[in-house]
Amino acid sequence: RVKEDGKNHFQFYTPGMNEAQSRKIRLEIGLRRGLKNGEFTVYYQPQFNIHSDELVGVEALLRWEHPEFGNISPAEFIPLAEESGLIVPLGEWVLYEACRQNKAWQEAGYPFIRVAVNVSSRQFQQTSLVEAIRRTLEETGLDPQYLELELTESIIQDSKHAISMMNNLKAMGVHLSIDDFGTGYSSLSYLKLFPIDSLKIDRSFTSNIFADTKDMALVSTIIAMAHNLELKVIAEGVETQEQLQFLQQGLCNEAQGYLFSRPISPEEIAVIFDDKAAVLPQ
Ligand code: C2E
Ligand code: MG
Ligand code: MG
Ligand code: MG
Repeated sequence: RVKEDGKNHFQFYTPGMNEAQSRKIRLEIGLRRGLKNGEFTVYYQPQFNIHSDELVGVEALLRWEHPEFGNISPAEFIPLAEESGLIVPLGEWVLYEACRQNKAWQEAGYPFIRVAVNVSSRQFQQTSLVEAIRRTLEETGLDPQYLELELTESIIQDSKHAISMMNNLKAMGVHLSIDDFGTGYSSLSYLKLFPIDSLKIDRSFTSNIFADTKDMALVSTIIAMAHNLELKVIAEGVETQEQLQFLQQGLCNEAQGYLFSRPISPEEIAVIFDDKAAVLPQ
C-alpha cells in the first residue's frame, strides 16, 4: 500500500506496522535526502587541558534537523546510517566540514586546536577511508596534526586490518584516540598493538565517580594505565566541579563535558576563543 505522506515523495505502510517501525523507515529514507538538502550540521564540544585551562580541541558532533520530526539525536540516526551504509558519505561529509572549519578558525587568527571526528566501525572497515582522509586534508589545507580520529573498540573485530589502517593513518600524521574506552568487550592487549595517542574515558564512568566507588577505582586505574603506556587520557561527560577536581588530582590530562560546555555552533566556539576566561568554571 502506498500513501501520500504530504511531502513530495511516497511512503510505504503495511498494516500492523507500529509507530516506531514507521518512524525508523521514514528516518532511514530521510537520511539520504537530508544529506543532499543540507539538513545536517556539525556542532563542536570544547576539550580543555585541565591543568592549564587551555582550549586544546573540539569534538565534531553531527546534528540533524529533520523537516518533520525536528532534532534527531545521533544516538538514533547513526545506527540507521550504519545499517544502510549511508554512514560512509555522511562520515566523509562530517570529516570535510570539521577540517574546513578548523582551517577557517586558524585562518581567522585563533590559536591552533585539534578537531576530533568520530569514525564508525563501518567506515573503518573500508580501506578507502585512508584515501578519503588524505584527500580531505589536501582539499581543506588542514595540517594533519590538527585532526584526531575517534575510534571505538568495536573496530578491533579484525585486528590485522585495524593495525594496518592505523599505521597508514599515523604515517599521515593524524592523531588517533579510543572513544568510550572501557565499554567494549575487548582485550587490553590491543593497547600495545595499536599506534594510538589517547584514551577517552567513557561518560558512564566519569558520571559515576562519586556514586560508585568501583567507578572511582576504574577511572583512577584507566588514567594510571594510560600514562604507563604513554597515552594521553581525556575524560568525557564531566558535569560537576567535584568530578573535575578528582580528575585533576588523578592527573587526567584533558576533559570535556557540560561543566565546561555543551556541543555548540562554530560561531559560539569563536566566542570561547575570544573570551575563554568567561566559560571556564573557577
Ligand atoms: P560520543 O562520541 O561518545 O560523543 C559524546 C556524547 O556525549 C555527545 O552526544 C555529547 O553531546 C555527549 N556529552 C558530552 N558531554 C556530556 C555531559 O557532560 N553530559 C552528558 N549527559 N552528555 C554529554 P551526542 O552528540 O548526542 O552524540 C552521541 C553519539 O553519537 C556520539 O558519542 C557518537 O558515538 C555518535 N556520533 C555523533 N556524531 C557522530 C559522527 O559525526 N560520526 C559518527 N560515526 N558518530 C557520531
Ligand atoms: Mg566521540
Ligand atoms: Mg565518547
Ligand atoms: Mg561515550
